Amino acid sequence: ESQKKAKKEGAADTLLALQYKKNEAFAEWYSDVIVLSEMIHYYNISGCYILRPWSFKVWEKIQRWFDAKMGPLGVDPAYFPMFVSKSRLEKEKDHVEGFAPEVAWVTKSGDGDLAEPIAIRPTSETIMYPAFKDWISSHRDLPLKLNQWSNVVRWEFKNPTPFLRTREFLWQEGHTAHATLEEADEMVMQALELYRGVYEDLLAIPVIRGYKTEKERFAGGYMTTTCEAYVPTSGRAIQGATSHNLGQNFGKMFDISFQDKDGKQAIPWQTSWGITTRTIGVMVMVHGDDQGLVMPPAVSPLQVVIVPIVSKKVSYDTLGPYCEEIQAKLEAAGLRVKYDDRTIYNPGWKFNHWEQKGVPVRIEVGPRDFDNKACRVCYRYNGEKEDKSADDALAPFLAGKMEEIQKAMFEKVKNERDDHLVKVHEWKDFTPNLEKGNLILTPWCGPEFQQEEEEVKDKSKAEGLERSGGEEDERCAVSVAGKTLCIPFDQPDLPEGTKCFYTGKVAKCWVLWGRSY
Ligand code: AMP
Repeated sequence: ESQKKAKKEGAADTLLALQYKKNEAFAEWYSDVIVLSEMIHYYNISGCYILRPWSFKVWEKIQRWFDAKMGPLGVDPAYFPMFVSKSRLEKEKDHVEGFAPEVAWVTKSGDGDLAEPIAIRPTSETIMYPAFKDWISSHRDLPLKLNQWSNVVRWEFKNPTPFLRTREFLWQEGHTAHATLEEADEMVMQALELYRGVYEDLLAIPVIRGYKTEKERFAGGYMTTTCEAYVPTSGRAIQGATSHNLGQNFGKMFDISFQDKDGKQAIPWQTSWGITTRTIGVMVMVHGDDQGLVMPPAVSPLQVVIVPIVSKKVSYDTLGPYCEEIQAKLEAAGLRVKYDDRTIYNPGWKFNHWEQKGVPVRIEVGPRDFDNKACRVCYRYNGEKEDKSADDALAPFLAGKMEEIQKAMFEKVKNERDDHLVKVHEWKDFTPNLEKGNLILTPWCGPEFQQEEEEVKDKSKAEGLERSGGEEDERCAVSVAGKTLCIPFDQPDLPEGTKCFYTGKVAKCWVLWGRSY
């Protein structure tokens, strides 16, 4: 609806204010923001979206940052085909069972049927590992560490949401092989630490790191680690990124082996890890407000926009060179700056436009500023303004501000998240806390209790529906069920004899639960 409207208005689409309030109609607000900020354009195949420059540049920032970390970790870039034969895809039983319902198949070329249908990668384990078999024969070939940036297709049947759950998405997938379990574990943690960095240092979103329970583990894998983010407005968690220790399972299935230092044949330990364009959606949901996006300075395509306020007395010809001088100084200090000198739009339109796009700082330059060699600095994240001298101190001042804003945005969200992190010891308190949009830590009898975990999910869903009197659309991505998010690495004290909140058996660890996307 909002896109239709925006389209009707043509180039002036951002003149429209957002039509929904974040706290009142979150889903509608989200669609509105991503369209009006020019991040997303809708497409005529469900679950597929066009990423416009304003979102793709964020993705590029993440890519550049990530790639810079690959070299020091000894991870090399590579690219593998997007198609996989049926026989290879189905080689690892658990893996294929996990992915089968979402695999898209190519069955025709032109008018004719293919002799054998070919799958489009939902992930690339079964594409890469046959080649690993050819490349690995001695301990000298290990570790093998590759990373590929690619698209994957998962024909999700749950309701698609731009960025968060799409049928085609962009990601990096790291795939490594090691001589020992310990080395593989180390790699898993190094990758997870990078994901923490993407969320916390680039996107200003706190995450909780931990292990997945056996039920939520990657199909065919041995151990999955995750970082979980929280969206305060919906009170829902979202799986930020995952890093898997695949064990020797794929090695066995794909016949990968090497001669170890003692001359014995051994199977390598493998890892895989991925982060996707979901990151951008989480950023929008967490930081956006009723005016539109609020971009963390670290990933914003632009950090400062300069808007001249021309009048009858002071024209573009006068203000232009002054603004360009400010721009040049800021750019020399490494800031990403635009001087918006478009004459077809008035200052009010430009303010609104760049606010919707979430640019961290707007500099207004009017006739008085020109006379005083000054400018007005306006901050997107808190709406504050201050007049500053436009001298040589401005650039270092604003560079410092970028870091300050980045930190303040992180702290604000972290406080909100922490306010919604509770401990629950008894079943009766579980669903009520889900309803409050809380993340819940409970003592739990063990990560291997899949049956009990399923029961908690079902029961909390039933209770949730009963209490709200609502009906849940099975196809909807957002369920009222509480599910395990992770077993946090950072475990609170668990005094001896503490009981599992659900079974009453002796608890082995704390588990984090929540409603999630
Ligand atoms: P996986 O290979 O299943 O471990 O997925 C890696 C990561 O991709 C997950 O941790 C999610 O953050 C993300 N992800 C999974 N499915 C989707 C999807 N349909 N759209 C966007 N991101 C996704």
